[in-house]
Amino acid sequence: MASLEVRNLRKTFKNGTVAVGGISFEVADREAVFILGPSGAGKTTTLRLVAGLEDADTGADILIGGRSVVDAMPRERNVAMVYDKHSLFPHLSVFENLAYPLRIRRMKPAEMRERIDSVASVLQIGELLDRLPFQLSGGQMQRVAIGRALVRQADVYLLDEPISHLDAQLRARMRVEFKRLQREFRATMLYVSHDQLEAMTMADRIVLLNQGRIEQVGEPHDLFDRPVSEFAATFVGEPKTNTIPVSLIEEDGRCLIEIGTSLVPVSREWVVRSGVAGSKTRSFTLGVRPQHLALCPPGDQGERTVHGQVYAVETLGSRAIFDIEIAPDRIVRVMTTTDEARHYATDNGAPISFRLDPDSIYLFDSETRRTVAYAAFSRREVTIN
Ligand code: ADP
Ligand code: MG
Repeated sequence: MASLEVRNLRKTFKNGTVAVGGISFEVADREAVFILGPSGAGKTTTLRLVAGLEDADTGADILIGGRSVVDAMPRERNVAMVYDKHSLFPHLSVFENLAYPLRIRRMKPAEMRERIDSVASVLQIGELLDRLPFQLSGGQMQRVAIGRALVRQADVYLLDEPISHLDAQLRARMRVEFKRLQREFRATMLYVSHDQLEAMTMADRIVLLNQGRIEQVGEPHDLFDRPVSEFAATFVGEPKTNTIPVSLIEEDGRCLIEIGTSLVPVSREWVVRSGVAGSKTRSFTLGVRPQHLALCPPGDQGERTVHGQVYAVETLGSRAIFDIEIAPDRIVRVMTTTDEARHYATDNGAPISFRLDPDSIYLFDSETRRTVAYAAFSRREVTIN
């Protein structure tokens, strides 16, 4: 194993597309770092640059174990890349598929057998070694594809969305298995995904990528609790963070947020500490996660209550999500339990209210979209569902 360091990595394709816009990050020895971002963010290109399958623009450097490999051939970099299951050789048994990368490196048969057995046992494919790929389920095939990279003793393992096309149930299992695998192998991994749940549950650290640029780097709870921008706040976490245009009003030494038709007091100390105090009324985008809002009876006169009407209600087993219209075309989502939901009318248009906890709100600059005020709780446990 070894560390990986990427400095000022930039890739301009021939057609002028800048897929990666000059990014720098590190993966420590035996660390699992996830590159997370929407489709087209530049994740695959970053991985291919590290593997040496694409050439970076001049000025970039890539160090593996402290050694610059930016000019080295892919084979000289000692990285192993996991391709998807379709890259298995259909005419070779599982064992031979796993053995292939070892045979081309002329590993001794006894050593090879030992290595394959150990990887197969972790991936729970030991029983399948004699089968051909078509005799495997999708999940088993994917595990073999992962195994084929792991049998090699590479310095860095590169994985590009290895489980994203599996069905939801299998993906959930693979997340757990991967976590186990990572614990046992303690490998240096750079893992690419567009799925925030994968990154949040499996990563030691996350590099959040947006349009070829790094939005934020941190441990999962950093991104969840202290998102640096509206993009980070809405990309990480399920259900998605609500973003609501609001006005911050200061009068008689009090601070109020005007949201829909309601005025919600917030702590002046928080406003001052966040550096958003001012004499005039200012516009912001307020961010709040659906799980940090609480339903209350329609017309509740509490100070922090926002009023609206039911737009739609989604129930998912033990949880329910209320879409509440607080102004024309302005929907706020509130997550609650199905038990709690029973106390409320769920007909379209039924009046309903919810309470805003001032400790759970973020303010984003309406123009730059950067976070200007962080939720006061800021270090609560990560809760994704
Ligand atoms: P991701 O993996 O995050 O979805 P990619 O790294 O595949 O994103 O692509 C990033 C951007 O670069 C996209 O806009 C994509 O269309 C573009 N791109 C990728 N490969 C090429 C290529 N060979 N030539 C031109 N543009 C490309
Ligand atoms: Mg991709």
